Amino acid sequence: MYGGAMTHVRARGDALAADEMARLIGLPFNDSDDVIRAAVAEASVPSLLMSMVHMAGDMGLLDELPKPFMLIAMDLQGGMSEPDKQTVRDRGFDVIRDYRDRGCPPPFVPDAAQLQTMLDVMSAGQVTAEYLDYVAADLRFSDADQRGPVLASTAEQRSEFPVVVIGCGEAGLLAGIKLKQAGVPFTIIEKQASVGGTWAANRYPGCRVDIANQYYAYSFEPTDHWSHYYSEQPEILKYLTDVMDRYDIAPHVRFQTEVTGAEWNERTDSWHVAIRTDDGREETLTARAVICAVGQFSNPVIPNIKGAMDFEGPAFHTADWRDDVDLTDKRVAVIGAGASGFQLVPAIADQTAQVDVYQRTAQWMAPNINYHAAIPEPARWAIRHLPYYGRWLRFVSWWPIADALDEQVTIDPDWDNGGLSASKANHGIREMFIAWMRVFCSDEQLLKKVTPNYPPMGKRTLQDNGTWLTTLQRDDVELINDGIAEITADGVRTIDGVHRPADVLIWATGFDVNHQLGPVNVRGLDGLALNDAWGDAPYAYLGVTVPKFPNFFCMFGPGTNAVNGASIIYNSECQMRYILGCIDMVLANKARYAVPRDAVCADYNRRNQERLKTMVYTHPAVASYYKNSAGTVPTLYGFRIFDYWNWTNRPNPDDYELQS
Ligand SMILES: Cc1cc2nc3c(=O)[nH]c(=O)nc-3n(C[C@H](O)[C@H](O)[C@H](O)COP(=O)(O)OP(=O)(O)OC[C@H]3O[C@@H](n4cnc5c(N)ncnc54)[C@H](O)[C@@H]3O)c2cc1C
Repeated sequence: MYGGAMTHVRARGDALAADEMARLIGLPFNDSDDVIRAAVAEASVPSLLMSMVHMAGDMGLLDELPKPFMLIAMDLQGGMSEPDKQTVRDRGFDVIRDYRDRGCPPPFVPDAAQLQTMLDVMSAGQVTAEYLDYVAADLRFSDADQRGPVLASTAEQRSEFPVVVIGCGEAGLLAGIKLKQAGVPFTIIEKQASVGGTWAANRYPGCRVDIANQYYAYSFEPTDHWSHYYSEQPEILKYLTDVMDRYDIAPHVRFQTEVTGAEWNERTDSWHVAIRTDDGREETLTARAVICAVGQFSNPVIPNIKGAMDFEGPAFHTADWRDDVDLTDKRVAVIGAGASGFQLVPAIADQTAQVDVYQRTAQWMAPNINYHAAIPEPARWAIRHLPYYGRWLRFVSWWPIADALDEQVTIDPDWDNGGLSASKANHGIREMFIAWMRVFCSDEQLLKKVTPNYPPMGKRTLQDNGTWLTTLQRDDVELINDGIAEITADGVRTIDGVHRPADVLIWATGFDVNHQLGPVNVRGLDGLALNDAWGDAPYAYLGVTVPKFPNFFCMFGPGTNAVNGASIIYNSECQMRYILGCIDMVLANKARYAVPRDAVCADYNRRNQERLKTMVYTHPAVASYYKNSAGTVPTLYGFRIFDYWNWTNRPNPDDYELQS
């Protein structure tokens, strides 16, 4: 239980060095009044208010000053009025100046009751006592998440437990960092030429994150990395490269090398991992455990459309972007108006002669004025320096989208309006999204085309600042929602018989998420092949461990994609903490391996899918690539992120068969 200032750190005696902690929660400063004035003017006022309490050590500020109305998704200002914000800013200026003049002493850290009071003010009572540990850990008031689980195995045991990690996206990189810190030897095998996974592969113009970067970032890194609230792909790739360098992980990675198979050897209690380098050399690595961090978005899909391979000009998927193809003054056909097409089209429309966007299904867009916005330099200064300000900004960014959306995504079985929405609350979202569209478009015909006929949030909701509709209204951009009859050598013919010529064809058609292993042949106990066991309905206990696959751990595995409101990086941190706990459990028990019990895994997956059946993602009106041939959504996660954090805290030995 969170008991107040840094109890976990003190109890464990491995406190972060002071400079490391300062890097996380705010570096001392001695800047001028002007710098401070500029920072308060640009700050998120709810986060500033909390930071003021840390600086002044005065909980009374929360009674005296105006409070956030409530935390609202995509809004960093807690719905506060301008005069209220100004009152807090004015006082904030005095508090910060005083803190500076006192030489930036160690900030006040609240005890549990005080934290609850702060959260009551911040969230208008939404964050109840149940969430206290979870929030305190992320705010870094406790060190519970910083160092991972307390380990019972010896350093020597861990040093003799080699691990192979497949993939070096954010998850594989994280695995490397945490294994290194725990003294576990490891090799990461990555088929691409660099770290980054998704963010190395998806280099199409306009590619950016759609979860605020304060949250889409490692919790153990400071929150001041970002130049934008929602950064573009090059910046995210740079972030992951910088983190790799900082933790010196590159020497452990074999790039341009593919894992082709992994087989459990019962005689040696080890995995034999088959790899192939880019130039065709093959090798077998031996490991006591495998961490499979191949992601869910590694296998691009090109749909089965007549003539799909017949186009004679350049044709490529957004995840295989061709830098050598110049789009200047070209007629470009973009197939797909989902998450990638939605980002791509506005980013290329100025350059091309014509863009034809072929839309199969309209997408819901959430109003977000910060979607393309830069973080002003004074606001970055605040993140870097004001104690805990960056941590609270992260909280303001994640709370309203992570665990606060339950009501809006739950289906009311008595609600019936022809599949347009799923409940009263969900209908409210529908109306709000439509009102936002109308701000940017008065063309009723276009509005009809872009308004989805399924409940909002049934798929991943896109973030919008008006750019999409503004782009679609250009004379040189056309949105086509007639089905595609065929791709021809020089264009696209729709079912109404119209042929639109194109010079370049771009597939923005998403990924095969239900076969995340791709061709990798993983064989566990009794030679069972994982791809056969999974089919298109993959499963894993907590999305991490699979019965009959000893010491085999998934990251971003089946049932872990919280499709609407989470950062996959956060979930990866939960998984990696759990995986370290599993490795520790095997070693401390001097076991050969651990596998989850069949019944435990089956029960977990049943409960997750049952829960998902009550949510918009499985609504009959929603067609998405998350649905498999049986109409279930095996890759999605249906519970609260809070529950996931809790459940993955450390493994329960009763859930496992520990083979000695
Ligand atoms: C365009 C796009 C935007 C996204 N935006 C968001 C967002 O805003 N928020 C969010 O939470 N999520 C987003 N996602 C989901 C994103 O995939 C995850 O956030 C995250 O990047 C997953 O990281 P990962 O390390 O698990 O997998 P990946 O990043 O996919 O990395 C997996 C790595 O494994 C490698 N690999 C696969 N098979 C093998 C093999 N056999 N041998 C060797 N290497 C192999 C791949 O080359 C890849 O580098 C987005 C995805 C896409 C495609």
